[in-house]
Amino acid sequence: AAMNAVHPAPSARHVLEHVFGYTAFRGEQEAIVEQVAGGGDALVLMPTGGGKSLCYQIPALLREGTTIVVSPLIALMQDQVSALVEAGVAAAFLNSSLSLDEARAVERELFAGRLDLLYVAPERLLTPRFLDTLDELRDTRRLALFAIDEAHCVSQWGHDFRPEYLQLSILPERYPGIPRIALTATADQLTREEIARNLRLENARRFVSSFDRPNIRYRIVDKADPRRQLLAFIREDHQDEAGIVYCLSRRKVEETAAWLAEHGVEALPYHAGLPVEERAANQTRFLREDGIVMVATIAFGMGIDKPDVRFVAHLDLPRSVEGYYQETGRAGRDGLPAEAWMAWGAADVVQQRRMIDESEGGEDFKRLGRARLDALVGLVESTGCRRQHLLDYFGEASGPCGNCDNCLEPPRTWDATDAARKALSCVFRTGQRYGAGHLIDVLRGERSEKVLERRHDAVSTFGIGADVDDKTWRTLFRQLVARGLLTVDHERYGALALADAARPLLRGEAEFTLRLVPEKQRRTKRRTT
Ligand code: ADP
Ligand code: ZN
Repeated sequence: AAMNAVHPAPSARHVLEHVFGYTAFRGEQEAIVEQVAGGGDALVLMPTGGGKSLCYQIPALLREGTTIVVSPLIALMQDQVSALVEAGVAAAFLNSSLSLDEARAVERELFAGRLDLLYVAPERLLTPRFLDTLDELRDTRRLALFAIDEAHCVSQWGHDFRPEYLQLSILPERYPGIPRIALTATADQLTREEIARNLRLENARRFVSSFDRPNIRYRIVDKADPRRQLLAFIREDHQDEAGIVYCLSRRKVEETAAWLAEHGVEALPYHAGLPVEERAANQTRFLREDGIVMVATIAFGMGIDKPDVRFVAHLDLPRSVEGYYQETGRAGRDGLPAEAWMAWGAADVVQQRRMIDESEGGEDFKRLGRARLDALVGLVESTGCRRQHLLDYFGEASGPCGNCDNCLEPPRTWDATDAARKALSCVFRTGQRYGAGHLIDVLRGERSEKVLERRHDAVSTFGIGADVDDKTWRTLFRQLVARGLLTVDHERYGALALADAARPLLRGEAEFTLRLVPEKQRRTKRRTT
């Protein structure tokens, strides 16, 4: 902060009250401010809306010199800087939205030591010209702090990956002794470790806030006729309310938006392939008008702050638990009841697994992708509390929540351990080269042409599953694939083979439970409000 020789250094509380106008710190804010203002490093994991900004803005005003805030989002930079300037703080930003003259003016302010905070895009920070300026500030002891916002952008796996973030590891080398704080709302264990490693913050103090969003009710249903299910969900529970519907592809976004509109829902499409003006117009309507449903790809959402989104629906599986949490987290920011609804089918899982297998990435990348997908399958298939499962994924222990589908209506389940073992052993006995149809014939003891031709009426698993009907076997095979116990060879007509994950079940060390899907998916209809 700009020096003031007359007054003694203000306290964090004083700044909180007199600059920002708040009476108390929230959650871990005070401890974080203390750590960073005292010159220590911090890695902060806090959900969206938790109050991350103050964690570096207050230290910026307490420490001598300028704080450099690295942020990837131009719109967010502008909002933050306007709010700070309004509060009387000397703040500015440098990014591609400024003209050359404007940028030079900001640089002069920085050089003269007149800025408390400077927001900068990572690619700008890394230019030789900017680094020279930072060297000068360092040498004259006017470099207060580095704050790295949206720190998950350094994670190579996530869809927000920014290669320039990786180069931020030069900061501790070039500016040793200058404290750093990295902040993110995205934080499964894997991402945390990646952030710490890639930003050289292994020794930073970690501050992990609760990720629970108690006002969001989670509901995950089996896909039957997804659009109709969605329409029923909107009509019954969210008539004329604002919501977001996520789809995987642009085409599906457009088709779904049009279909909903035909059925009386005020729905608009949003994806990166739409003309810029249309996208902007749709976004503005969503933000300003009441009761608009935005049908979108994941291109929509980051940095969008609409407090009264009453539901987020997924018509396709998100890519990970992390993605699910981020996307559903856009509902209910105002703290009022909101819903996260998703329709999923085992075919979605198979499709995503295939996309990972066929992607360009290396083995490590694919392995991570599979692990993340498996974790998501665990969540959608869970027969226990969804919230507990979700929080557990973020390393947070909790009890059943009473505000998710499984808590409100415990699902009926079937212990399919025995049947699953039979299915796996049938795959093995027939040489791991057949698809589900043929395997089911063998299990049910059908003497089909193919069974007789291959002499599968002589294998030990022939007919051992006659007591289970064809449809149930199909479900079981789909689930074995979805949960990664069987792999599918798409080149060979869907031939199924055993995966390593099948071993515990074959050895009798694991159980296999299936959710019983009622003939007609019953709808949970119990609103507390
Ligand atoms: P995040 O970056 O974690 O999403 P923000 O820093 O934007 O969150 O803060 C979210 C909202 O909470 C803002 O409106 C902010 O002014 C408010 N806020 C943050 N800290 C406090 C506090 N200690 N007391 C009251 N309001 C706060
Ligand atoms: Zn629950």
